[in-house]
Amino acid sequence: MSSRSETDPVASPSLWWDGLVRGDAHPPLETDATAQYAIVGGGYTGLWTAYFLKLIQPDADIVLVEAQRIGHGASGRNGGWLMGALEGCAAFVDDTGVLPIAARQQLTQLVSRAGDVLAKEGIDCDFYHGGCVMAAARHDIQVGRARGMLDDFWRLGFTEDDYHWLTPQELSERIRVSNPGGAVFTPHVARIHPAKLVTGLAAVVEALGVRIFEHTRAHRITPGLVSCDRGSIHTEQVVIATEGYSESGNPLYRRMIPVQTGMVATEPLSDQQWSTLGFHQNETFADCTRAATYLQRTADQRLVIGARGHYLPGGVPQHALADSSAIGRTREGIALGLFPQLSGVRFTHSWGGSVGVPRGWHPHVVHDAHSRLATAGGYIGEGVGASFLFGQTLAELLTDQQTERTQMPWVHRGCLADLRRWEPEPLPGLGLKATMTAFAAEEWLLERVGDSAATRAVSWLCDHLDPH
Ligand SMILES: Cc1cc2nc3c(=O)[nH]c(=O)nc-3n(C[C@H](O)[C@H](O)[C@H](O)COP(=O)(O)OP(=O)(O)OC[C@H]3O[C@@H](n4cnc5c(N)ncnc54)[C@H](O)[C@@H]3O)c2cc1C
Repeated sequence: MSSRSETDPVASPSLWWDGLVRGDAHPPLETDATAQYAIVGGGYTGLWTAYFLKLIQPDADIVLVEAQRIGHGASGRNGGWLMGALEGCAAFVDDTGVLPIAARQQLTQLVSRAGDVLAKEGIDCDFYHGGCVMAAARHDIQVGRARGMLDDFWRLGFTEDDYHWLTPQELSERIRVSNPGGAVFTPHVARIHPAKLVTGLAAVVEALGVRIFEHTRAHRITPGLVSCDRGSIHTEQVVIATEGYSESGNPLYRRMIPVQTGMVATEPLSDQQWSTLGFHQNETFADCTRAATYLQRTADQRLVIGARGHYLPGGVPQHALADSSAIGRTREGIALGLFPQLSGVRFTHSWGGSVGVPRGWHPHVVHDAHSRLATAGGYIGEGVGASFLFGQTLAELLTDQQTERTQMPWVHRGCLADLRRWEPEPLPGLGLKATMTAFAAEEWLLERVGDSAATRAVSWLCDHLDPH
């Protein structure tokens, strides 16, 4: 495994940067500058916002600053599920308890729309629209959970075309898990290569005339002024796109806290090995556990496996990846539990990153026409697809367009301070630690004693601790 540098994701052990040829870094901002739009953060949200601004207003003068390199944050480290879904979208139901039809359409059309834009712009990021299988794959108790999840989707107003049940046999025909109990299938997910997407998108926006400065941290973000290390940007409009990497000096600090999640990747597998695993449609895959697993078959024939992680004391974004070996061991265990046929396979990469979690537990697009500060995010680990939709929405809000997207229930026309702050430390840490410990205890009991009174008691506790 390669050694990592804190400042350069190319040198990090994230699979996605391994062998990816990219040019020299964009030079940092060295003097004061002016711009119509100043975007802070070089991940998908900042870049999609810049892209759509340029489509709407080709002569827009846009500066984008990134503290490290493009894709340093979650956008260069994720599991590559481009989803037509939002985590926490139950918060957006109408009086009848249903997600408004226009909102459902935005989500169910998202993956195809993103695919069309990627094709149009020639961004080759291994996009494959194969859907997603969310399975009862190890424990019998997961069957009820998967069925419950399907009911929840239908209750929100989604149809069988959007989410439907796979019998154990249908599940096995797609994915060969150890204990197939059935699954929910949705067509609304595509697989992508995260780093190819973020670098490809950056190249497109640069070609459209956006000025990108890397290794340029915004120390202070205020209306009309973004102050960086060696220069400030005087601007009409600031877009904050820093998500789980929002630190002190940023208006989103403590309104968004970083929770780490981690991944491992196997070595490339042979056709014979894939024939024992399935994934013939390059489906993304999750097993219905509270560890929130997410797997994909990569274009270079690896299996990558991710699962929910921890909250680091003090709420620090995870730049250092100090515990990547622990991250790796747990995920390898999950992979072998799901697929005993992986026994003996080499795991070659282990990495992690921070996802942004807002206090309200649902994502947002915020546009403050008065202060001219705007943001989008709070994706809770589901921002690969959502950032495409939210970036377009932000661009439309910033250019005073009235579209169906700008009317969506996740759009807030008000100030950033309306986003709730997290409680002071150590409360968030203690709460999240208690939740993660209960989840781990449930998993331990399921593995060792199966469905028992003790397991059910811990599951009950988990249901009450789970914010969803
Ligand atoms: C391991 C992992 C797996 C995931 N898997 C999935 C998945 O499969 N599907 C999915 O939908 N989502 C997934 N996510 C979440 C998804 O990657 C994010 O929601 C999405 O990338 C967020 O994009 P963003 O541009 O908003 O933020 P980021 O990509 O985090 O970008 C924020 C950027 O802002 C920069 N920055 C911060 N502060 C400053 C400053 N002061 N000045 C300048 N720059 C600054 C950071 O360096 C960073 O590059 C995963 C996340 C992780 C970590």
